[in-house]
Amino acid sequence: MQQPTTSPPAFHVMIKPRGAICNLDCAYCFFLTKENLYPDSQFRMSLDLLEDYTHQYIAAQRVPEVTFAWQGGEPTLMGLDFLRAAVRSQQQYQKPGMRIHNALQTNGTLLDDEWAQFFKEHGFLIGISIDGPHCFHDAYRTDKAGRPTLDRVLAGVEFLKKHGVDYNLLACVNALNASHPVEVYRFLRDDVGARFIQFIPIVERDNDTGYQEGTTVTGRTVSGQQYGDFLIGVFDEWVRRDVGRVFVQIFDVALAAWSGHRPGLCVFEETCGTALAMEHNGDVYACDHFVEPRYKLGNMQEIPLVELAGSPPQRAFGLAKRDALPKFCRDCAVRFVCNGGCPKNRILTTPDGEPGLNYLCDGYKAFFTHINQPMQFMAAELRAQRPPANIMLVLARQDAALQQKFAHVGRNDPCPCGSGRKFKHCHGHRK
Ligand code: SF4
Ligand code: SF4
Repeated sequence: MQQPTTSPPAFHVMIKPRGAICNLDCAYCFFLTKENLYPDSQFRMSLDLLEDYTHQYIAAQRVPEVTFAWQGGEPTLMGLDFLRAAVRSQQQYQKPGMRIHNALQTNGTLLDDEWAQFFKEHGFLIGISIDGPHCFHDAYRTDKAGRPTLDRVLAGVEFLKKHGVDYNLLACVNALNASHPVEVYRFLRDDVGARFIQFIPIVERDNDTGYQEGTTVTGRTVSGQQYGDFLIGVFDEWVRRDVGRVFVQIFDVALAAWSGHRPGLCVFEETCGTALAMEHNGDVYACDHFVEPRYKLGNMQEIPLVELAGSPPQRAFGLAKRDALPKFCRDCAVRFVCNGGCPKNRILTTPDGEPGLNYLCDGYKAFFTHINQPMQFMAAELRAQRPPANIMLVLARQDAALQQKFAHVGRNDPCPCGSGRKFKHCHGHRK
């Protein structure tokens, strides 16, 4: 297939083989309403389309590694035979020297030995959504009958562990769990045994369409300050105990940025537009978060996928992330890592009246400022080809020295940590 010169050398597509159909009914799921886009559909990707997609997707990539990303809705509702057919197609169209990966995001409730064996055999990376212990997870993540789901999710994780499947956990940070960062993090780390964790902020527009429009948000939405405090709480625990042992996506992104590399996650990249989404019928959209008529690029059975990915509207979509950045962001000290965040959340106005400021700005700024020193240290260790985990020794020494000073401090004295606050309102309070 001849590729247009404007097509990106590599791009991702989130495939929705079952569309928005799911066996659960999570309160803040942004995708369930997408069912309304296809009123008469059976929501099942055909095997012909699967093969066509696999062929086109592989042919379009000008890089040696290719990842197939399965999502929903709930992709396991397609059944295992569908994914077996997917793997067969991948093997059929694989180019010489090309490595093919599969990543599947699931709620985990339908997994069993057979699924886990299949994932292990074909090296799938599985993403599982867990928002924390029962009191947090079960509040919003319920099934169609309103019943809690955490126990079923954890049973699914056990199948993955039993068969040695690689998995990561995705926790949504929302208005409910945001004030409990350490509790959530320790649950994921210690009780579930996660080594790879993503914290996704819930910013949910309050409208009837489910589209990215309007500027009000629902009560489940995490505020910028809450999100920043949450990330700081997790970071302070992680940086003292878990560097090199537990991998938190936004911390990895930050370390890459502080090391002078690209963040590697679209949300924090300067531009985006190379993470498309494809519905069960081959309709391709600009992004998973913009599956709505205005952002439909076309159907890949009518227009080749590679042309859709390199089309002028898609390039404009990706460049707008940078070009629409307000001056407030362009002048910001942490822009090199933040880049204004995801456009879907840019619903605020800057203090000088410019639109396009991220709803989470307060949190991003507080978090990225808070981690500046340890990130500088870890980046320097990396440059010197030493492990970033050395930060834990440095902080342990600092903490021990502070503890010695604390022993003789009065509650109303200035805190020895240098924060400028009274001891009782700072480390004395925490102690
Ligand atoms: S709109 Fe947001 S989620 Fe979509 S590709 Fe751009 S940064 Fe990523
Ligand atoms: S922290 Fe706020 S001002 Fe700075 S780049 Fe991010 S969104 Fe913009």
